[in-house]
Amino acid sequence: MTDLKALKQSGFIPQRQEGLFCLRVKVTGGLVPVDKMLILADIAEKYGAGKLHLTSRQSVEIPFIKRKNIEAVRQRLSENGLAPADLRPGIRTIAACQGSEVCQCGLINSQDKAQMLQKRLVDEPERQIPIPHKFKIGITGCPNNCLKAEEHDIGLKGALIPSYNAEDCTHCGLCQKVCPAQAIKVSKTDLTYESDKCIHCGRCRNKCPENCWTGQEGIHLYFGGLFGNTIQAGRILGPTVTDDNAIVAIIQKALSYFETNGRKGERFGRTITRLGWDDFRSYME
Ligand code: SF4
Ligand code: SF4
Ligand code: SF4
Repeated sequence: MTDLKALKQSGFIPQRQEGLFCLRVKVTGGLVPVDKMLILADIAEKYGAGKLHLTSRQSVEIPFIKRKNIEAVRQRLSENGLAPADLRPGIRTIAACQGSEVCQCGLINSQDKAQMLQKRLVDEPERQIPIPHKFKIGITGCPNNCLKAEEHDIGLKGALIPSYNAEDCTHCGLCQKVCPAQAIKVSKTDLTYESDKCIHCGRCRNKCPENCWTGQEGIHLYFGGLFGNTIQAGRILGPTVTDDNAIVAIIQKALSYFETNGRKGERFGRTITRLGWDDFRSYME
């Protein structure tokens, strides 16, 4: 491995300009505490060009670091509980929206899920599965899909499986109005719900003034998305998942498939399409 390749894999990406490097910082869920951001700003002032760049997948980058300063930057990160991103083949930044802790639309706590997956799939070395290429996981708190679940190697999307209780219903029609899938029809005396049209957005539950809609919150997983040189939407394969252990087990199973079948330099979605979705589906089942 060349020195430059090793530096890149350890988070210091060679720039166009000879001898200059762009540091990518390890970030999970796009969340950077203010004290850490101040440290990064200080590093950028001292060793970079006084600016930070926010990547499309929620990492922070500090460009224009001179080679001679890389060790000092590493040291500064490490003594402040920060680290460069690991850019070897494996799971990259786990990106996540604000989710239900902050966002009114959120059906799952995307940030908690991001931290949980980072801990259980990335930070515990004994659990890491050696895969042939980078692997992106994104978590989006509801079908508004701010984090674009279908663009990721594996995307998680919050979902609500709604259920209706007629007891207090006044037939005001609001749930029909807010339903983006035309899954609800309200008349003066009746309400019908077509589950096959439902996209699990939870708006009926969030908006009903009489709390007639409840339901089970969970996660839909999408597999094999790509959004680079080639574009491919990830596909949903199974039912709603509600349990963290099940989510981890499903992702580990997909990673095992990639470990066994993926070629060096091949993205997960390409491995699936090369071998066929039926092959992947039957492995996962
Ligand atoms: S995906 Fe949903 S929960 Fe997440 S930020 Fe967007 S609207 Fe909010
Ligand atoms: S919004 Fe609630 S009260 Fe109004 S029709 Fe729908 S279920 Fe009934
Ligand atoms: S969850 Fe969303 S799509 Fe499904 S019935 Fe309710 S409002 Fe309509």
